[in-house]
Order: sequence, then C-alpha cells, then structure tokens
Amino acid sequence: MIIKRNTLAFGLGFFFLSCLVKGLLASGQAPIPAAVWLDAGHGGQDQGVQALGFKEAAFSLDLAKRIAARLASRGIKCDLSRQADVNLSITARVLSANLSHAAAAVSLHANFSFSKASKGVRVFVPTQAGQHLSLSDPKGGPSLSLVRWNQSQALNIESSKRLGQLIAEELEAGQAAKRGVQALPLALFKGMVPPAAVVECGFVSDPEELAGFKDEKQLQDLAEKISWGILRFLRER
Ligand SMILES: [Zn+2]
Repeated sequence: MIIKRNTLAFGLGFFFLSCLVKGLLASGQAPIPAAVWLDAGHGGQDQGVQALGFKEAAFSLDLAKRIAARLASRGIKCDLSRQADVNLSITARVLSANLSHAAAAVSLHANFSFSKASKGVRVFVPTQAGQHLSLSDPKGGPSLSLVRWNQSQALNIESSKRLGQLIAEELEAGQAAKRGVQALPLALFKGMVPPAAVVECGFVSDPEELAGFKDEKQLQDLAEKISWGILRFLRER
C-alpha cells in the first residue's frame, strides 16, 4: 500500500491530537459533549447582509439563542459559535464545531438576491467527500482510519444530508416551493466533522420575508421549526 507523505503527516498529526484529547480526558478536564453546535453567522466587522435596519449578524445570533433555549427546554445542550457581536473566522468556527463533539452542527444565515423572484429558505449540506482512507495493520491489529482535512465529512455525509432534509421539511411545510437540500462545497464544511447544515432562513431582499425577520411571532416560529428539525434528527440517531 502506497502512503503519500502528506497523508502520513496528517495521520501523525491526528495521532498527536488524539493523545492530547486522551490526556485531557485522563486529567478530568474534558468538556461535557454538546449535543448541538449552533453557528450564528457573521459578526464583528462582518455584519453579513443588511437592509433597512436589519443586520444578518444580529439576526443569526438572536435566532441561535432562541433555538438553543428551545432545545435546552427539551434537555438538549447547545454550544454557540459566538455569544456576542465579535469577529470569528471560518477556521475558528470549524474548530469550535469539531471540539464541541456535537451530534449536529447548524449554521444560521439570512439570504440576499438582486432577483425579486428569490424567496424562501435554502438548506445546504456538504458535497460528497473524497475517499475515506484506511490503513490496515499488517500484524493483524486494529486498522487505523485516517480522514484527510478536506475529507472530514466522509463519515457523516449521509447524516448531514438527513439533518438538512429534516430542517428543510420543517421550514418548507407551509411553503409552495419545496426545494429540499442542496449539496455545496461551502467553506464552512471544509474540515467540519459533525453532521452539518447551513440554513439560509429567507431573503432580506424580499419585503415580506424581511418583515418576518423583524416580527417577534415569526422569529419564534422560525426558531421552533429549526429546533424541531434538529430534534427529529437527534431522535433518529
Ligand atoms: Zn450569511
């Protein structure tokens, strides 16, 4: 079996990271695993889409907190990528998701389009990852599984699809156009290990949907639907 140098380097890196995690576990300092990781999109200097007083960064944080509260009321712990209006790189978000050991990772956004016809939710999941590499111990010991950094979703690609489907089902229940989920190689998915979905909750460029983002009752409803999608996913596991 030919092992490429970068694959071997990654394997060694993964081994040392495993040792670090085991060390933390042994020292009793390991965090309690979160069931769900929620990403409030944007923040700080990056406010995302803005329109008529609406700021995507504030909207996504508010929505993340509402979803976390709903899931907490059902006994499900959530980790948020950020708790305030701060800058957070994509890499920091991915690390945060991976370290949370979450069973599901959901990133929250609002959409914008110059086309007036654009309406409704969009749910994105990772594309098919590359091959999953497995090295068998020639002495018959347990095999060592390696997943390249850009193939981190290899083990969870189907779970991500299901997570996205369930959230889309809940959000699209009352909508005329049902799009389901779309697989896209988004930057956030690169290196992301937990089953993951990005939810674009609607278009701020559509006056009706923008009004919905500012309406308390519709915001609550949005949080409730996304929570139900996540809850159904967790129950299926
Ligand atoms: Zn966004």
